[in-house]
Amino acid sequence: MGWFTGFRSPMNKLSIRDLDLNDHRIFMRVDFNVPLEDGRVMDDTRIRETLPTIEYALRHGARLILASHLGRPNGKPNPSLSLKPVAERLRMLLDKQLALGENVGFCPDCVGPEAEEVAGKLEKGQTLLLENLRFHPEEEANDEKFSKQLAKLADYYVNDAFGAAHRAHASTVGITRFVQKAAAGLLMEKELQYLGKVLQHPEHPFVAILGGAKVSDKIGVIRNLMNKVDVLIIGGGMAYTFLKAHGEQIGKSLVEEDKVDLARQLLQESKSHKLKFLLPVDHVVADKIDANAKVQIISSGQPIPPNMMALDIGPRTVEAFTEEISRARTIIWNGPMGVFEAAPFAKGTFEIAEAIAENPGATSIVGGGDTVSAVHAAGVADKITHISTGGGASLEFLEGKKLPGVEIGKCTRPPTRRVTFSATSSP
Ligand code: AMP
Repeated sequence: MGWFTGFRSPMNKLSIRDLDLNDHRIFMRVDFNVPLEDGRVMDDTRIRETLPTIEYALRHGARLILASHLGRPNGKPNPSLSLKPVAERLRMLLDKQLALGENVGFCPDCVGPEAEEVAGKLEKGQTLLLENLRFHPEEEANDEKFSKQLAKLADYYVNDAFGAAHRAHASTVGITRFVQKAAAGLLMEKELQYLGKVLQHPEHPFVAILGGAKVSDKIGVIRNLMNKVDVLIIGGGMAYTFLKAHGEQIGKSLVEEDKVDLARQLLQESKSHKLKFLLPVDHVVADKIDANAKVQIISSGQPIPPNMMALDIGPRTVEAFTEEISRARTIIWNGPMGVFEAAPFAKGTFEIAEAIAENPGATSIVGGGDTVSAVHAAGVADKITHISTGGGASLEFLEGKKLPGVEIGKCTRPPTRRVTFSATSSP
């Protein structure tokens, strides 16, 4: 399938490893959408994840142009969402790890005469970070003229922004129609390799753990995974819509009333797929979400009192989930088991993280911002096979949807032709 592993696939998607980078201008779409506070980068994970691709390009003599979005500036310049602090952090990281930091420049716009001039003067081994793509409304509109302006900066295009691959924007889709070649970066390849393998050739037993607040966010994933997994574990707030559908008394736990019928239908469908569908059997409850809340355990078979809400899975549930996790050969996890942000309700989530870490024989994949934070907070991130950088993108991938920024790999053009299309021609 995809663009990964460095070979040219039947769908003719390319890897950065297929490109002759030397002395060529490479436009690399990265996901530098990092949290900022008072102009400082608070978490540089996303920058560090792309370093191998950046290093690869620079070591192979590329003239590298990096572009990203940051936050939601709604199509207008917004100094608090400038990528300038990211350029400084990138400079520091490249210096520390590769002694390449002093070659990083910043351009205060991503298109136009200044960007064209600076990109044109870039030398081999030099890097230029462009200002936030979303300062222009044309980026999210996947505007053709804007796509052409971006494409004008470079010869080849590399997409390493898995986290933005579910968006059909100018820098993820439009631009690929106007460059000579479009290829996947190393991070993009890694994401597609792990997530693709899970969906296509998982080792069994295959256990999926879904949690978090809402059933509605994960219906597509549940449906797509039902005929692939051996065990589907549901925890977190979303479990209580299922438990209500099951006829249980859930007190004032989170519930999506309009999804109760659907939850009942999914429970029914799971029977025909012969999979184990596990829901919490006991619960940590409190009358409010508060770090000082008085908690109580509601044992298996007992109703949750009307004034209480379930905010974490109970000890018997942890035991039952852990047993399945310990037998698994493939594990995917998206969504915390409780309100792990507050200490009294964090235990279930952390114990599930530890259970996954204690099964080194399994390929484990964790996705979603909160779940990734939980894995870090539990101190087991280094024991997870793959931590996905794309929250929304990884969910859409697991739903079986085609991601526009991945599909576009089909648009690869031979090097000798610079092809342009009218707005209506297909790529
Ligand atoms: P999501 O973005 O759908 O993965 O949801 C993550 C959020 O779900 C986290 O902020 C958790 O605090 C919240 N959550 C998890 N379990 C519960 C629960 N039992 N009740 C309310 N919220 C929950």
